[in-house]
Amino acid sequence: MRMILLGAPGSGKGTQGEKLAAAFGVPRISTGDALRAAVKSGTELGRRAKTAMDAGDLVADELVVGIVEERLSLPDASEGFILDGFPRNTAQSRILDQLLLKNHLPAVEVALHLDVDDEEIVSRLLARASEQGRADDREEVIRSRIRVYNNETHPLLDYYAKQNKLIAVPGVGGVNEIFDAIRLAVIAVESGLA
Ligand code: ADP
Repeated sequence: MRMILLGAPGSGKGTQGEKLAAAFGVPRISTGDALRAAVKSGTELGRRAKTAMDAGDLVADELVVGIVEERLSLPDASEGFILDGFPRNTAQSRILDQLLLKNHLPAVEVALHLDVDDEEIVSRLLARASEQGRADDREEVIRSRIRVYNNETHPLLDYYAKQNKLIAVPGVGGVNEIFDAIRLAVIAVESGLA
């Protein structure tokens, strides 16, 4: 399975991504996790990414593309992947298509949209802020991440819809309920029913 996850920050991509990765036996690749790890260990990449992350802006394409390219070249990604947080703008989606081609890997099969409305997103992220203390979970940064999502990432829905790869699942309800809805939608798109 080669799947990308689309959805606002806090829509549950991480949670569902882990479950999908386990179910399909492929790695979940999260650019957000990789960037946070780089910031934490103080690497050059982390230093270059931090200002944008703290402001809720997108990190420069070349930094995240480097992460994804390196990760996709590892042997465990050769059978598939669940990409969480990449691509996040149209340039990145084109780069991903080219990367797969260049590495003789099959194209993305499914783009999953976890659909959650903005107000629900804000309240989830504020709740996460008090539990986990993530640096970018402050209200003004949350608003800017949602704005960036709507401006830069939301247009990708159309990019994948035009290729008949898009599935949309409401990201509200219980974790297992949402997961079941995703599985049904994946089966439908793979059998050409969607
Ligand atoms: P969330 O989905 O909760 O906003 P992520 O963990 O996916 O969080 O990403 C956190 C931050 O990392 C983003 O706000 C952004 O600054 C940076 N980031 C992650 N992935 C990308 C990407 N593909 N392109 C640019 N910046 C990215």
